[in-house]
Amino acid sequence: MSKFMTPEMRRLTPYTPGEQPSGQDYIKLNTNENPFPPSEKAIRYAAEAVKLSNLYPPLNGGPLRIKLAEYLGVDTREVAVANSSDEILELIFKAFCGPASPAAFADITYGFYPVFSKLNSVPYEEVPLRPDFTLDTEKFIGIHKNLFIANPNAPTGLRINNDDIEKIAGSNRENIVVIDEAYVDFGGQTAIPLTRKHQNLIVVQTFSKSRSLAGARVGFAIANPDIIDDLYTVIYSTNPYNLSRANMFAAIGAIEDDGYTKRNCKEIIRIREMTSNALKVLGFKVLDSSANFLFVSHPKISGQELYEVLKQHGILIRHFNSSRIRDYVRITIGMEKDMKTLIKITENILQQRR
Ligand SMILES: *Cc1c(COP(=O)(O)O)cnc(C)c1O
Repeated sequence: MSKFMTPEMRRLTPYTPGEQPSGQDYIKLNTNENPFPPSEKAIRYAAEAVKLSNLYPPLNGGPLRIKLAEYLGVDTREVAVANSSDEILELIFKAFCGPASPAAFADITYGFYPVFSKLNSVPYEEVPLRPDFTLDTEKFIGIHKNLFIANPNAPTGLRINNDDIEKIAGSNRENIVVIDEAYVDFGGQTAIPLTRKHQNLIVVQTFSKSRSLAGARVGFAIANPDIIDDLYTVIYSTNPYNLSRANMFAAIGAIEDDGYTKRNCKEIIRIREMTSNALKVLGFKVLDSSANFLFVSHPKISGQELYEVLKQHGILIRHFNSSRIRDYVRITIGMEKDMKTLIKITENILQQRR
């Protein structure tokens, strides 16, 4: 650390991303990436768009914003696009949270919420999930703080329904309620239709998971036009050209090739259920996932140990060193053959410990 960093920034604990090894020698099940490649159309559109990279990209998401609005059946003014949903979340923190506008979120959820809180000097409350890791919606009713709810939640994969979201949004009208739907296409229910009724609701989605474009960094928000205007005020105050032309057009290609996305999601859900059943047979406790990963624990092996042994065998999964979930690991759903390898190796590991 240099002597120049401010006292506030010195206190930051940055988000810890999952490992990104440079070689291809691991079966990579640690960062919830999609095992299927981007759609051919996304690749073609991006390659074409790169040819115009001497020019700045279109402002305001350009044709992507229009395409998304059409696809989702909302008005263009109800959509903001950005360079990843992480950026959307940061814009939301900057626009609506601050030292006098606190945030609240579950104690076990996406690790970026506390990071963005600290970065922006936002006081926050961590609301404990129930012992079974379900969200205790009662605790969010009338909490009067800006809420961040990942639905389905990460890393648990559990979800809440729109009735609960309506109750939460309706009882916190003076605060924003953010529903982070990074995994919604793997079995969740989107809250987008509720954004017209609840003016404080912001739905955030990404192209990183279901649409196989984690490397392109494209995310978007749906909310009432006043909220979207505020997000664009922050975009124009930080980085008006926040989305590269190539990535903008990759995302357009992915929307036009929605059938490809839907088929892949269906396949991932099928592989998830197969993997879940096989792990249960091996004695794992498996939470009921609506996402592209499983959150599991085993009475005979700690989370840290399973992570380490699997890594020695060439499989990367994610372990979180946080007290309530220390026994658990999060396993991304990959190709069927890779999941079968994982199951086989895990079976051998467990057999050796009898
Ligand atoms: C992966 C993930 C994101 C980040 O998505 P990007 O668009 O790649 O930044 C946001 N929220 C949750 C809950 C996620 O798991």
